[in-house]
Amino acid sequence: MSEPAPTATPHTEALLGRYERSLLGVFGRPQLVLEHGEGAWVWDVDGRRYLDLVGGLAVNALGHNHPALVAAVSKQAGQLVHVSNFYTSVPQVELAERILRVAGAPDGSAVFFCNSGAEAVEAAVKLARRTGRTGIVAAEGAFHGRTTGALALTHKPQFREPFEPLLPGVVHVPWGDVDALRAVVGAGTSAVVLEPIKGEGGVVPAGTDFLRAARDLTTEAGALLVLDEIQTGVGRTGSWFAFQQAGVVPDAMTLAKGLGGGLPIGALVTFGPDVTALLAAGQHGSTFGGNPLACAAGLAVLDTIDSEGLLDHVRAVGAHLARRVLGTGDPRVTGVRGAGLLRAVTLAGEWAPAVATHARDAGLILNPVAPDAIRLAPPLVVTTEQLDLFVDALPGLLDAATEETR
Ligand SMILES: *Cc1c(COP(=O)(O)O)cnc(C)c1O
Repeated sequence: MSEPAPTATPHTEALLGRYERSLLGVFGRPQLVLEHGEGAWVWDVDGRRYLDLVGGLAVNALGHNHPALVAAVSKQAGQLVHVSNFYTSVPQVELAERILRVAGAPDGSAVFFCNSGAEAVEAAVKLARRTGRTGIVAAEGAFHGRTTGALALTHKPQFREPFEPLLPGVVHVPWGDVDALRAVVGAGTSAVVLEPIKGEGGVVPAGTDFLRAARDLTTEAGALLVLDEIQTGVGRTGSWFAFQQAGVVPDAMTLAKGLGGGLPIGALVTFGPDVTALLAAGQHGSTFGGNPLACAAGLAVLDTIDSEGLLDHVRAVGAHLARRVLGTGDPRVTGVRGAGLLRAVTLAGEWAPAVATHARDAGLILNPVAPDAIRLAPPLVVTTEQLDLFVDALPGLLDAATEETR
């Protein structure tokens, strides 16, 4: 684990140099130049193999190069890629129906398709505005995207401050604090927007009590409860959507990330006819949103989650991972947060960035979501044996990381 990184990386070095001369620097220097993948494995341009336990940030739900996704996208690409929203297509109608069905959404519910998570949040913000109110309550540590509207709901000061003033009327309450929520939700509140599990905020579950309180308080105040399931949705936590485990039905839900299995697609789902009626013809739109190619990918993802029994699989392997990590009894590991295959391994020190760097050199892709927390959001098809490769490597990675930061 502690051997130095291989140095013979000619293609990687050359491409990173070209990257830095041609791409805007908002992401910093990329860690790898990836070329192809298979399941939970990816290979870089110098032929090195990595176990991808981040899955394109909870996006590659079926892993890389899944035959069902490849077939669906290839077939659709040979039929129609885009038609504009003057027209519709079979994949668009079918995907909307399928999402509503697996969400258990009541009659009168509806789907708006867009191309990313932030766009889904923007649609939710406009939906909320149509209540005639302007207040939005979000949570401390929340991440809802980078466009200027969504950014107003995102909490992290480093993301927000360079762009203020942002959309007015947004307040952030401490995570999980029911009293704080009760104090701010009222007659001016259009919506409370929450992630069932804060993803970028460190994989921290909201908890059933907080979600139920948010449901009750928004109902009493006549405000919308919007659940941002962009990271938690589409099987990630072991149910189709995380809200289904909390027994809380939202007024609206945002989706993206895993929905397209890697193709860009986002969605706003409105629950019930009253919420659906808030956005009328002409009040929102998207050129690319709901194009047949992305929708065919979404259908392949939902079909495959069904046909491969991936919800049960996610619950089983997610529990296995948590059990094995805690079973190491390593005092440097303080816990495992999250659900299904959205997990953070929490550490007794700020070693996560160094663990991730050493892991990469050892052929494992991990995400240091916080200084003391390693996020895993692998493809839903990841096996117990693959997760065990991580658990078995963890003590050595921690040795290397703690050595360095001593
Ligand atoms: C990733 C994410 C977003 C933003 O999605 P983009 O596709 O990057 O715009 C919004 N909300 C949550 C919870 C996310 O995890």
